[in-house]
Amino acid sequence: MAKKYKGPAIGIDLGTTYSCVAVWQGQNNRAEIIHNDQGNKTTPSFVAFTNDQRLISEAAKNQAASNPTNTVFDAKRLIGRKYSDSVIQNDIQLWPFKVVAGTDDKPKIIVKYKGGEKSLCAEEISSMILTKMREIAEKFLESPVKNAVVTVPAYFNDSQRKATKDAGAIAGLNVMRIINEPTAAALAYGLQKRAHNVGKRNVFIFDLGGGTFDVSLLTLKDDSFEVKATAGDTHLGGEDFDNRMVNHSVKEFKRKYKVDISGNPRALRRLRTACEKAKRTLSFDTEAIIDIDAIYKGIDFHLSVTRAKFVQLNMDLFEKCLEIVKSCLTDAKMDKSSVDDVVLVGGSSRIPKVKELLQEFFNGKDLCMSINPDEAVAYGAAVQAALLCEGIKNVPNLVLQDVTPLSLGKATLGDVMSVVIPRNTSIPVKKTREYVTVKDNQSHVSINVYEGERLKASENNLLGLFSLSVRRAPRGLPIKVCFTLDADGILNVSAEEETSGNMKVITITNKNGRLSAAEIERMIQEAGNFKAEDMKFVKRVQAMDAIDDYLYNMEKVMKDDSVTSMLNPVDKMMIHSSMKMGKNMICNQKLETFVFVDFLRELKRIFESALNRRNMGN
Ligand code: AMP
Repeated sequence: MAKKYKGPAIGIDLGTTYSCVAVWQGQNNRAEIIHNDQGNKTTPSFVAFTNDQRLISEAAKNQAASNPTNTVFDAKRLIGRKYSDSVIQNDIQLWPFKVVAGTDDKPKIIVKYKGGEKSLCAEEISSMILTKMREIAEKFLESPVKNAVVTVPAYFNDSQRKATKDAGAIAGLNVMRIINEPTAAALAYGLQKRAHNVGKRNVFIFDLGGGTFDVSLLTLKDDSFEVKATAGDTHLGGEDFDNRMVNHSVKEFKRKYKVDISGNPRALRRLRTACEKAKRTLSFDTEAIIDIDAIYKGIDFHLSVTRAKFVQLNMDLFEKCLEIVKSCLTDAKMDKSSVDDVVLVGGSSRIPKVKELLQEFFNGKDLCMSINPDEAVAYGAAVQAALLCEGIKNVPNLVLQDVTPLSLGKATLGDVMSVVIPRNTSIPVKKTREYVTVKDNQSHVSINVYEGERLKASENNLLGLFSLSVRRAPRGLPIKVCFTLDADGILNVSAEEETSGNMKVITITNKNGRLSAAEIERMIQEAGNFKAEDMKFVKRVQAMDAIDDYLYNMEKVMKDDSVTSMLNPVDKMMIHSSMKMGKNMICNQKLETFVFVDFLRELKRIFESALNRRNMGN
């Protein structure tokens, strides 16, 4: 593999609900999962906006219940999708924040920030989380970080991958490679197994996270990690299980109190947090209590949920997971008995019923839980990042071969999908197919590029279209269409009319709902502005805190009679009045930082010179 980049380089698992960052540490022969400033290895994928500031991660999540309409999460569910997408339309019902249709049907998130209204796209929210992950890594490495590998669900389509790359660009990161989450987890698992010399193995990765579900079947042999097939659902995960519990609780509340709380964002936010907590409890216990004080108009909510009830509420979703497992094995043409290891990844793979169903399906095989399901993806991404960089010590020797999750092709006569690259083809790949004109004297041909498995082209996802002008000739003029899929799973299509001496090649990249270079540039600038505003806010708080600290110390000194008895009355009066003024000031939200800084200087001057005069016996 060509090493084009220089370290340090990090691996980021950009999750729907939590994100995680890791870096390869050559001296320890392993990837290190990096703790955030709160000491946690996973960081909530939350961004919040208030009248004063922007908050990211824990700080944002912690205030979500009191500021639900301006606390944004789930950007990964929005990214690369259209507003009219039925998935988005369903989610909008449950999100406490506002999402509207922007230009080109792109969803826009509307929040209140610093007294005004701000409209943001999912890429911008994701870029803020990526920036946070980068900062966590920079603090740990004590050096700037530019290069990163970012993971996406294996089942992410072309638009979602490109939008994730754009989010990286807005965060000022060079996204060296986008890799699939289950493949990244397989890297982590495979390296662990390889250390034990276990020979060739067929490994099934079951990755059930907060918002997405992916499965991949890999064959690991010596240095080769080869993905055989992948399948998934980009909209199935822990949040769906939470939603079922939220809906159940809303119904119970209505039954008990005859009040519908479904339209109240604050109540829903509090309920969601409690349901997620109860869900986690139900992975260890058979009963959990949802207990919320004054959820609505002073009414306390108390509900006991059994594990059996939780299973009943979600059974169809768990069964959906199994169907996807089956389709992956079918695509890989492998019988379940040939699978050596079934590896669990993603927080939701801890749910006992999910484990039970999976184990039953694999004829009672022990499920592998030896890798940390929250950390394995970031671990693998860090290994891939190290592999792409030169000068990093002790990088494991391996060759990774991934596949494309969806078939790619073009529409032909009668709206029939003509597949050029079938799903589960190893990437990178370049494939050319020859088509012919269908009418005499055609002046141009339209190339409509789709991804998906439907036979009717227009029922698949349209990636882009272009028109190629051709030499006028009787029908049957050959046109060569070439599909190139890079290692990130991102597509380029070109077409040429071969027979004309004047060869014409057109390349398309998917612009469908994608940000333009100018928009990315503007968002990079805005990200800089956000950062500057965040810094301004932090400086203001620090300046206020400095006054508060100084006042506290002054107060202590002024309680000491041996000091105050020696102060002259004018100084004493000045000190007391400036202390009073200081206390009023730190409650004033409108004052600028420089006012605090200047005041502290003055406060120190008044106090210190009074003490000096006392020392001089004056
Ligand atoms: P991930 O996207 O892999 O970080 O997974 C996060 C999801 O896992 C969230 O929906 C969590 O609620 C869920 N999760 C984490 N721990 C547990 C647990 N012990 N039982 C059930 N779900 C869990």
